[in-house]
Amino acid sequence: MNNEYDVIVVGAGCAGPAAAKKAAELGLSVLLLEKSQVPGEKNVSGTCLNGAAILDPDLQYIVECPTERLIKEMRTYHINDDRTTVFHEIPSEGVLLLSVRRDHLDSWHTEEAKKAGAEVKLSTTVVDIIEENDYVKGVITDSGEKYFGKVVIDAAGVNSIVGRKAGLIPKRKGTSMILYITAAVKLGEEVINERFGDCIEYYLSPDIQYKTWPWIFPKKDTVTLGTGGYMDENLINDEFPNVKKYMDNFMNLPIVKKKIEGGEIVSWGVHLEYDETIERRVRNGLILTGEAGGFVIPFLGEGMPEAFFTGIYAAISAAEAIEAGDFSEAKLSERYEQLLGDNFFMQAFRHIAAVNKEAILSKSDEEITRMMQQVIMGGGFISNAIHTKWMKGVEDEDMELIQEAYDFQELIVPYASVDPDFENLIKERGRK
Ligand SMILES: Cc1cc2nc3c(=O)[nH]c(=O)nc-3n(C[C@H](O)[C@H](O)[C@H](O)COP(=O)(O)OP(=O)(O)OC[C@H]3O[C@@H](n4cnc5c(N)ncnc54)[C@H](O)[C@@H]3O)c2cc1C
Repeated sequence: MNNEYDVIVVGAGCAGPAAAKKAAELGLSVLLLEKSQVPGEKNVSGTCLNGAAILDPDLQYIVECPTERLIKEMRTYHINDDRTTVFHEIPSEGVLLLSVRRDHLDSWHTEEAKKAGAEVKLSTTVVDIIEENDYVKGVITDSGEKYFGKVVIDAAGVNSIVGRKAGLIPKRKGTSMILYITAAVKLGEEVINERFGDCIEYYLSPDIQYKTWPWIFPKKDTVTLGTGGYMDENLINDEFPNVKKYMDNFMNLPIVKKKIEGGEIVSWGVHLEYDETIERRVRNGLILTGEAGGFVIPFLGEGMPEAFFTGIYAAISAAEAIEAGDFSEAKLSERYEQLLGDNFFMQAFRHIAAVNKEAILSKSDEEITRMMQQVIMGGGFISNAIHTKWMKGVEDEDMELIQEAYDFQELIVPYASVDPDFENLIKERGRK
């Protein structure tokens, strides 16, 4: 039958093409299904790719993707009534992040999967899974077509129907979700070069977010702004009747207003991110990857490298299971969990995110802004995670906390520093 494959991958976002490409490279027959006409066409979310992750040998090919800008600097603004503190981190060399457009990235990545031998069907929505004797055996599409796979890789994102139908993605509570609002403002390349350069910006100020960390990311001729909040009972109130109010306040900060003056808002978006761990990410014949598997750090707005890694690891786990003729949950998950556990980047970033989140959720915007203004070293995410622990240790006279902060700093040295190798890799392989 021509609708039988070794592996079926659902979703051509970040995780899907990575999984399909790897599985095809490992000699498997692969079908990649994507509901949109052009991969990434509706996705304006993930837009800055972490260089430290892409240095990993498994992800190095990603530098060949269409890139909008090489991000070399980071500025954070901490603004309250009496002052604005700006931390401008300018590494002496190297590239921090790749700024990308998802329609370009996902389409390129899908082509790479195709080149490796995967079959791709676009404009195809998966509506159900096929189950037999407690095994996931395939999927059913909106046209009623059935496709069978020894292993199904779910890469359909935050609210995947595959993971839900398989009973692995639970119903989420409001408090475990972040609602982000984004806007793209067209300014033209010259203006962006002048006002932003190759620098991403983060802002923290009362009334422009609810327990999140607003940003402005420069692309070639547009900048994308994002803000939002944890969906608890305080997100919407008399003062904030909707999340757009947070964005309006953000855009109306005098410093931001000047930077986007003369620009045209070309798109708006509202996105949900689930901020919780998914307990079980594998079933007989099924592996969840990327956001479907909860591999995202919504608070830091990071999930693309996690999606790439998990897609690749799912493909490796599937290939080994197929080789052994055993697609059981035990066989698939043993290898998958081992690969995840060995990935230092994923472990370190989860740790940073957890500490940051704890710090932000426990304090008011004013307190956080003030605390950050007192911190001598930079105001980036990593420094916040370390300093929060450090300062709490000093406040409570708790040497253990200080030691933890110190150990943490040591642990993340490879990711806190800017590695010139990343720039070299871009020069060698990139085609900006
Ligand atoms: C506002 C915002 C900003 C962000 N910024 C960043 C950032 O700068 N850096 C970063 O690393 N991460 C960022 N993230 C996170 C990042 O976007 C995600 O973690 C990442 O896209 C997850 O990849 P994925 O492949 O799991 O899912 P997705 O990228 O969402 O891809 C899922 C794909 O599956 C398809 N699909 C869904 N359902 C079906 C179906 N039933 N049948 C067929 N196809 C289907 C979709 O069309 C989509 O193409 C951001 C997220 C948000 C919300």
